[in-house]
Amino acid sequence: MNYVVGNLVEPVFRPPSEWDALLIAITTGCTRKCTFCSMYRSKKFSIRKNTEEIKEDIRKARAFYGDRVQKIFFEDGNAFVVKTDILAELTRFSYEIHPNLRKVSAYAHAKDIVSKSDEELRMLAESGFTMVYVGIESGDDDVLKACKKGTTQDEIALAAQKCHKARIAWSGIFLLGLAGNDPEKSRKHAIESAKLINQMAPPTPIKWYVSPLTLQVVPNTELWEQISTGEFQPCSSEQILEELHTMIMYTSNDLHKCVFNTNHASNYMGLKGELARDKEKFLSIIEAGIKNPTLRRPDYLRGL
Ligand code: SF4
Repeated sequence: MNYVVGNLVEPVFRPPSEWDALLIAITTGCTRKCTFCSMYRSKKFSIRKNTEEIKEDIRKARAFYGDRVQKIFFEDGNAFVVKTDILAELTRFSYEIHPNLRKVSAYAHAKDIVSKSDEELRMLAESGFTMVYVGIESGDDDVLKACKKGTTQDEIALAAQKCHKARIAWSGIFLLGLAGNDPEKSRKHAIESAKLINQMAPPTPIKWYVSPLTLQVVPNTELWEQISTGEFQPCSSEQILEELHTMIMYTSNDLHKCVFNTNHASNYMGLKGELARDKEKFLSIIEAGIKNPTLRRPDYLRGL
């Protein structure tokens, strides 16, 4: 259960692993409008300018929850867009107020990471900012352009390397099915995503995270419209598994400390392990799932 105080505007989202974090709003909404995403469509993007008011939320949480808060997640969609000195100030203040705090994280767009200098990122890490969750979606520049992600494979690889250098943990989220059901496009999406995973690997062995999710087309999105006009045709569950198989197959064999996780409820099969160590095991599990539909999570049990 999340700890909640202050000025959060519904609906609120956070990564599954932040289910027990204190949620502190420092922005409202998201800076972008990706074609598949409905999460923040109802909110106009804004940055909370009054830092003292945010600090008051952090203090209030101490009064409500005592010393139980161990994690803080800065909301909303793209909190990393906030200026580095403000992020660092709020992070430092959070540790002052919550004695058992051990993690501070936020969603981040690759562009906003790249726009911060190495020195700024190092300063942020030193303040105690621990982790970014980055919606990568694809390593394929054509897919990134089509979904209006506003970034490229090169930029995302650079963002990952900058975070590794600063010692800010990296969690990258891919979206299976985003290229649609054209077999060639789907395969390219998988291969380019694997290429990007290889480029994101840290130069020294530190833990990092890759989590593919599966596309679910929802109302109030451009992709929903594109389905109704026939411009976009979604993948079958078998195609999604083939995409995942290709993606894993094309990753290099030395991705130690890369935690690979498909346990998200949107996926047809749950895998969790270290990519280098478990690659062959993952491939066999997916091959079994491709052959036998009963091994796949049924659609009615899939959700976001
Ligand atoms: S950047 Fe993320 S949260 Fe914002 S619109 Fe795109 S997918 Fe949604």
